[in-house]
Formats: sequence, structure tokens, C-alpha cells
Amino acid sequence: MKIDVLSLFPEMFAGVFGHSILKKASEAGAASYNVVNFREYADNKHQTVDDYPYGGGAGMVLKPQPIFDAVSDIKSKSDANPRVILLCPQGERFTQKKAEELAESEHLIFICGHYEGYDERIREHIVTDEISIGDYVLTGGELGAMVVIDSVVRLLPNVLGNQESHMKDSFSTGMLEHPHYTRPADFRGLKVPDVLTSGNHLHIEQWRQRESLKRTYQRRPDLLEQIDLTDEERNWLEEIKKEQI
Ligand code: SAM
Repeated sequence: MKIDVLSLFPEMFAGVFGHSILKKASEAGAASYNVVNFREYADNKHQTVDDYPYGGGAGMVLKPQPIFDAVSDIKSKSDANPRVILLCPQGERFTQKKAEELAESEHLIFICGHYEGYDERIREHIVTDEISIGDYVLTGGELGAMVVIDSVVRLLPNVLGNQESHMKDSFSTGMLEHPHYTRPADFRGLKVPDVLTSGNHLHIEQWRQRESLKRTYQRRPDLLEQIDLTDEERNWLEEIKKEQI
């Protein structure tokens, strides 16, 4: 997957792209990153990228020209038909489902805003997806782009090893993941559930599925409304509800 990021602060990405899974993905050839300072595309003498809003008001607005030209230049060198993603608090709220959808693409272009926002013509004419990472306002789109890129790249084939498989992660299954424990089995009197040290894989798997259901019911009951439960899960859910009373 090719990933281009348009940002006024490209240095911010070095740490994130240079560590952990994102670094591993690029070393393995699964993802390549290119961060472009779209100021370089400004066609005015002072390389200005923002201007006052028509109609007045506080804050500056990103001009269309540098972003239109940067996106067009990147697209002209691409074999794929890239998705152009605008980070924006007014966009579609980002989810694991969206990450899975984006992970199918060959080329993604991210536009990171700043100041008061973008000239509306950017949104209307060159963007394919508007993404918000939550109902709060950040100073710029960089942190949002990093969040989206991290969650997408870890889904690419061969990026996570078996040990780190994402298939059972929270949201991938439609539920939250079950709790985890590691050694020691008794930490200062705090014990690991017996089933996990029993060696009975069927019981361990059933315990995990039930705990996943319980945790989802307790913390995110809204998720359960969006999935079809098996008969066994429905029975467990009834038991869990009784346990809560
Ligand atoms: N005035 C804008 C509004 O009220 O919708 C907010 C602009 S914000 C200060 C500057 C930039 O930060 C945005 O253009 C966007 O790129 C980014 N940003 C802020 N909050 C975000 C969020 N929740 N998700 C994604 N990007 C966000």
C-alpha cells in the first residue's frame, strides 16, 4: 500500500513511521510512506497556504490551490486510483470497519488540515472520504492521520505475525476482546482464572467467548445490537444479565 500524507508539519510523522509495526510494514515492503509539505506547492511568492475567511470571522482557512495541486501531482504518478482522505471533525466517525475497508486500497492520500479548516471546494472536489477520529477538536489533522494509518497498516497481509493477529481484536469480531493474563499464575495473591491454566483448550476458548460477550455487554452494549448472536451466546447473555442483578 502506498500512503501519501499532505501536512504542514511533516516532521511529526518521523517518530510514528519509524517505529514498531509501521516501521516493520515498510521494511517488509507492505507499506510505503511519503509525507509532503503542501506548502511546497503554493504558487505565490511567500508560499502562503492560508487566507482570511470570506465573510470575516476568526481564524485562517487553507487555500484550495496548494492542496489541489499536491493531490493532482501525486495522482498523476499513481497507477492506482487513490482514495483521498480528509481528516476533519465533521467527517464520518472512524471505526474498525472503515479501517478494514481502507486496507483493501492500494493507495491512500491523507490531507491534514490546520487553522480554522479547509476551503470547502477541497472537500467537494478532490476528497473521497472525510474521517473524524472522534467528537473533539484537534489542532491539526496529523494525529488523526497517524491514528488511521496505524490501524489500517496493521491489517495489511503479513504485517502482524501470528502472535499479533488482529482477527480476534476488539471490534474485528463485532465485540470487545476477552481479558488477558500472563505469568505468574499467582501474583501477590491475585490469581489467574483456573480455566486458563487447565490445559483444556475447548474450555479456554469457551471462557474467552463468554468473557468477550460479558465485557461487551458491560461496556459497549450498543455493539451487541449490531451482531447476530449464536444460540449459545444468547444463553450466556441471559446468564450474564442475571449475574449482574
Ligand atoms: N473549525 C473546524 C471545525 O469546527 O470543524 C475545526 C478545525 S481544527 C482546529 C483544524 C484541523 O484539525 C481540521 O481541519 C482537521 O484536519 C483536524 N482535526 C481536528 N479535529 C479532528 C478530528 N476529530 N478528527 C480528525 N481531524 C481533526
